[in-house]
Amino acid sequence: MNAAAGAAVDLAATDRHVDDLVWEQAIRTPDAVAAVCDHDELTYRELAGRVAGLAAELAQRGIGSGSLVGLHLDRSLDMLVALLAVSRAGAAYVPLDPDFPADRLRYMVEDSGLRLVLAHSWLDADTTFEGVDVLEVDRLAVAGDAGSLLPSPAGEGAGADLMYVLYTSGSTGRPKGVALEHRNVANFLLSMKQVPGIASDDVLLAVTTLSFDISGLELFLPLIAGARVVIATRDESADGDRLLGLIEEHQVNFMQATPSLWRLLIEAGWSGAPRFKALCGGEALPVDLVNSLASRCSDVWNMYGPTETAIWSTCYRIPGADAPIYIGRPIANTRVYVLDKSGRPAPPGVPGELYIAGTGVARGYLNRPELDSERFLPDPFVQAPGERMYRTGDLGRFLTNGNLEFRGRIDSQVKVRGFRIELGEIESVLSGHPAVGGAVVRVIEVAPGDARLVAYTLPRDGAQPDSGALREHLRTRLPQYMVPQRFVTLDAFPLLPNGKIDRGALPAPESMEDEAKRPVLAPRTEAEKLIADVWSGLLRVERVSVQDNFFDLGGHSLLVAAAIAEIRKRTGVRLAINRFVFETLEQLAASLPGKPEAEGVDEQGKEKERGLLGRLFGRGRGA
Ligand code: AMP
Repeated sequence: MNAAAGAAVDLAATDRHVDDLVWEQAIRTPDAVAAVCDHDELTYRELAGRVAGLAAELAQRGIGSGSLVGLHLDRSLDMLVALLAVSRAGAAYVPLDPDFPADRLRYMVEDSGLRLVLAHSWLDADTTFEGVDVLEVDRLAVAGDAGSLLPSPAGEGAGADLMYVLYTSGSTGRPKGVALEHRNVANFLLSMKQVPGIASDDVLLAVTTLSFDISGLELFLPLIAGARVVIATRDESADGDRLLGLIEEHQVNFMQATPSLWRLLIEAGWSGAPRFKALCGGEALPVDLVNSLASRCSDVWNMYGPTETAIWSTCYRIPGADAPIYIGRPIANTRVYVLDKSGRPAPPGVPGELYIAGTGVARGYLNRPELDSERFLPDPFVQAPGERMYRTGDLGRFLTNGNLEFRGRIDSQVKVRGFRIELGEIESVLSGHPAVGGAVVRVIEVAPGDARLVAYTLPRDGAQPDSGALREHLRTRLPQYMVPQRFVTLDAFPLLPNGKIDRGALPAPESMEDEAKRPVLAPRTEAEKLIADVWSGLLRVERVSVQDNFFDLGGHSLLVAAAIAEIRKRTGVRLAINRFVFETLEQLAASLPGKPEAEGVDEQGKEKERGLLGRLFGRGRGA
């Protein structure tokens, strides 16, 4: 275990509701602007008033302590109001990402047993969540009275109330809900308020989807400190140019993102600012990115932690370019142990598995006692009864300077563009396809920050799995970021002497015969050649056929943003994202010549794009 990162939080202060911390701030600075989104803003007083109104409505519907409420909302001020109102009503929220397939959302609703979904009317929640009450927040005229918003008396034990249940990828084929209490998050926020710290004149740009717990820092930290949160809408959070626009327009000086999203911003031409705090986390921070950020910002922080221990558990301020990259030291009231295989602390310098203990440790998985007993263990290093530690599956080591270093995973959980994925979940869903006799999925990093999922399948009973059908099978069951970019059919998996699959010996997709045999109709016109050139550079495929579709060729959310930007740079035409989903290269090329920039996307295209952006980019957590 090592010394804390510098923040000290009184445990008694964590025994409360996070929304109470916000109300205290609302009373201190009622007229300051609390939140901005899409040219709309709320002062602390207005925010408190709207929350009070919605909380009263929820209470009238019987929502209270012990209830779970689903949130099926676009990124908006409504979303912020809903989060706080659910807590205010004493209930806990379950993010139901509008970008996820209906099948997955319905599973989450059933598994959590939630009773009510707060939704935006345009998301058609009634159809998705049949049999569950749906309250459309944009159709609700609630009058809120901010005057009545005194903090609720912090009854002893309030911190142990459930705050949210967040579903994360599950290796057995279905996602699992992690149940977090208010005190987990209150401790985290109070610690963050001190280190890295936030000031009342800070403006934070929130870019992360609710499905990723780190959105909690973005939405609540500014609000307990009198600062301002600018909420990027779904399409803004996936578009480097628009993020740049928001940073300039609102004089943003604080942002948290995954490495992928930071890259998107830098590639869009962000030159940084002399007083800018950049928090980076969710996956390993590469040195080239540190250097890019260090030359653009005053403060660069590496943040580390799993959902199961509330957002971030350690943090480290990177001193400058080319400095070693640590994940640092634990936040307040948090202990990190590096243990060897027999559970003994590893000495400094020696790697072991990371275990996290303290106030951030979640209540556990929802209705999964067998998983709880695997991952949430009694903490043998402290005397206090009931103290638990979470087994992360991460490898790390302490250095003699007291910092922790991250050294990868010990299992097949991976991070792809910031998204946490259990490869076993994709394999299990793939194996459910009637033509698949076996499936293995792995990640290949084709360039720094550009990881691709590749699925290897065996045919079942002579049936030849077709990549289009497999992709469709997965698309209706998994979030887009879990759908592999490449599919490869094998006759047998390479095996290790012990009979297990030798993942390292799986052939790289580039060398596959499939690729060489693919019929290619070469680009003919200037426009086709231009698009083919952009695609082959981004997708790293040598041969592009005019009948290819960008996503079928291995495209993903970040790459489509890059393709649109590059085509726009070269031609002045901005092609709509939805066209990349449905059209072939030749169809896209047909609209290139002679069109001025503004006409590149028509109104109908924009509307469609709104919905699709979300589905493609998922979380905005890193696109
Ligand atoms: P999630 O539950 O989605 O927050 O994912 C947690 C996992 O992401 C951790 O267990 C790590 O494997 C990885 N992770 C998070 N932050 C970092 C970081 N700064 N450096 C390396 N890995 C990280």
